[in-house]
Amino acid sequence: MLQDFPAIPAGWAYLDTAATAQKPQIVIDAIAAAYGETYATVHRGVYQRSADMTLAYEAARERVARFIGAGSSAEIVYVRGATEAINLIAQCWGGTVLKPGDRILLSQLEHHSNIVPWQMIAERTGALIDVAPLTADHCIDLDAVEAMLTPQHKLVALAHVSNVLGSVLDVKRAADLAHAVGAKLLVDGCQAVARLPVDVTALGCDFYVFSGHKLYGPTGIGCLWARPELLEAMPPYQGGGSMIDKVSFAKTTYAPPPTRFEAGTPHIVGALGLHAAIDYVESIGLDAIHAHETALVRQTREALSAMNSVTLFGPEDSAGIVSFAIHGVHPHDVGTILDEGRVAIRAGHHCAQPLMEALGVPATARASFGVYNGPADVDALVKGIERVRRIFG
Ligand code: PMP
Repeated sequence: MLQDFPAIPAGWAYLDTAATAQKPQIVIDAIAAAYGETYATVHRGVYQRSADMTLAYEAARERVARFIGAGSSAEIVYVRGATEAINLIAQCWGGTVLKPGDRILLSQLEHHSNIVPWQMIAERTGALIDVAPLTADHCIDLDAVEAMLTPQHKLVALAHVSNVLGSVLDVKRAADLAHAVGAKLLVDGCQAVARLPVDVTALGCDFYVFSGHKLYGPTGIGCLWARPELLEAMPPYQGGGSMIDKVSFAKTTYAPPPTRFEAGTPHIVGALGLHAAIDYVESIGLDAIHAHETALVRQTREALSAMNSVTLFGPEDSAGIVSFAIHGVHPHDVGTILDEGRVAIRAGHHCAQPLMEALGVPATARASFGVYNGPADVDALVKGIERVRRIFG
């Protein structure tokens, strides 16, 4: 697999896939061909090249729908990424549905992009936010969620896989709990789509969002899936070209979803790159990727748990991500020293400051795996950590 990734030189352990995945040659080739051979606008041109590009752009939407088990490609809205998707849902769905006193339930481990948009819309609508705690092994506590939910809750919004801890949510149970009180379930699938098989229909959620760049695809493209009746009832997010049915100064009417939510010339090439990325991960298989990353997580956790100055966060069976702290050493120093040994990890709060507060640390060091990693990368990480411990006594 490593040979598919031209930006990973020999001997470099890239362990920051949770931030963004490296790109396989097949994705780079798809992007180069889209700009270099077949480029044209979509949905507007009367010439053949544009019609062909439109077909390719819409074929990518169909590929996404099949990939996540959506009922139809009309349920897939292209966005810039998960952040834009959640803002869109907060503004368009939340802005219409939420009333003063309504409640939104989030969890302690959410990424800022699944917190701040809800705070913004709560402030505008008078809705209130509740925060579900974590279990002792740092998973979202669904027993607590069950006890907290009331008929005032209109939305539960949770990460499928935590970007810091790798904790995997039981989405089916979360959906049942939300629906039992009449709430909708939004799932932030950013870390999940590249690590686990996802079928939104089987999971029973109402909204599912992800970014293309964490799925070995390009930056600047992501997807929002929602049940069709929810999209149908939502007003547009932004106004402009493409999203209209008819424009006049007397009255403008809007296109049906998903077009209604896609104002302006879209990220055409991004969609084609995403198509290639989905083909790539499915050629390996999500079950195989999950098994591969689980083995690397196990190897990492076993090695680190044998070191007495290292604290491991997250559950044993985390999906592809291991966060840790070394006693007396700031995670940034850990990251810098590891980099000297050609090991790239992330250190910081990982856009999850409320989680850091719950863990009682200012930051963590995080190693996250992808299809290109192998046991030698874990060995390099462990060697680097041993060096950190020697340097800091
Ligand atoms: N949610 C999670 C769980 C994430 O890991 C990330 C990216 N770190 C996001 C949301 C936001 O994704 P993006 O920055 O691509 O919009």
